[in-house]
Amino acid sequence: MRHLLGIEGWRREEIEALLDRAEAHLPGGSASSSVLQGRVVANVFFEDSTRTRTSFEMAAKTLGAEVLNWTAQGSSISKGETLLDTVRNIEATGPVALVIRHRSSGAPHLAARHVRCAVINAGDGTHEHPSQALLDAFTLRRRWGALDGRTVLIVGDILHSRVARSNILCMKALGARVVVCGPPTLLPVGIQQLGTEVAMHLDPVLPQADAVMCLRLQTERQSESFFPSTREFSRLYGLNAQRASKMKEGALVMHPGPINRGVELAPAVADGARSVILEQVANGVAVRRAILEVCV
Ligand code: ASP
Repeated sequence: MRHLLGIEGWRREEIEALLDRAEAHLPGGSASSSVLQGRVVANVFFEDSTRTRTSFEMAAKTLGAEVLNWTAQGSSISKGETLLDTVRNIEATGPVALVIRHRSSGAPHLAARHVRCAVINAGDGTHEHPSQALLDAFTLRRRWGALDGRTVLIVGDILHSRVARSNILCMKALGARVVVCGPPTLLPVGIQQLGTEVAMHLDPVLPQADAVMCLRLQTERQSESFFPSTREFSRLYGLNAQRASKMKEGALVMHPGPINRGVELAPAVADGARSVILEQVANGVAVRRAILEVCV
C-alpha cells in the first residue's frame, strides 16, 4: 500500500491485516519504534483538527520520524496558491509522507496523482476519513474480539459526515450490521447502497445497538438549515442519560470528536461507563503508526 485514500475497495482481509499490525503498535507491543528514523512526515491540514493531527504527529514521532506541521492559516493559501502547488512545494522539502486534510472531497486523491511520496487522507470534505474508521473498528474489535453479527448504530449528521461513510464501509466489511439514524434531511439519498439500514427515529433502534456512534452536526458544511433548531435535534437525536439507560447491557458509546456536549451527546454519557471515546483516541495512535509503517 502506497497511499491511504479511503476504505472504499478494501477487502475484509486487508482491513484485518492492518488492524493486526496495529495491535503490535500498542504501548508495549512488539513493533519496532525506529522504522521512520531519519525521515520526515508532513501534516498538511487545510482544515482544523485536534485529534487526527496530534495523533498522526504522535504516531510518526514514536516511530522515529521528524514531523512538519503545515496549516493553511498563515500560509500562502491567502495569496491564492493552489492545492497542487502547495503540496508539490511541501513535497520538495523532502517528507516521505503527506497526511492531508482538506474541505474538498477528493483533494488527497488529486494530490496523490501529482506527488511521489505517500499520501494519507486525514479527512476530505464529506467523503472519507479512513484512519478514523480503522481506529473505530480497532476499538470495537479489541472490546468484542470480532464485529461479526454486532449492530453498530451511527446517529446524527450522516449527510455531511466522512466518518460515517468510512465507518459504514469498514464495519460492513468486518461483518457488522450498520444502522444509520438521523433527521431525513441529514440522511444521504441512496445511503442503503452502502449496505446500511436507515432509521428516522432513534428510540426504537437504540435498544438493538451493541455500539452507538454519535456524530456532531457539521455546521461548517451546512449552507442551509437542515432542521428547525439545535435544541430540536438534541431532543430527537441526542444521546442523554435517560436514553442511554435504554441501551443494551454492555453496549458502548463512541464519538469521533469534537463533541458538542449537550447537543448530540450529554456530558454524563460522554464521560460515563459505556463511553470508549478516549479509548478511540488512544487506539488512534497505534492504528496510525501501522498506517505510516505500511505506506512509507
Ligand atoms: N473529527 C471528525 C472529522 O474530522 C469528526 C468531526 O469533525 O465531527 O471528520
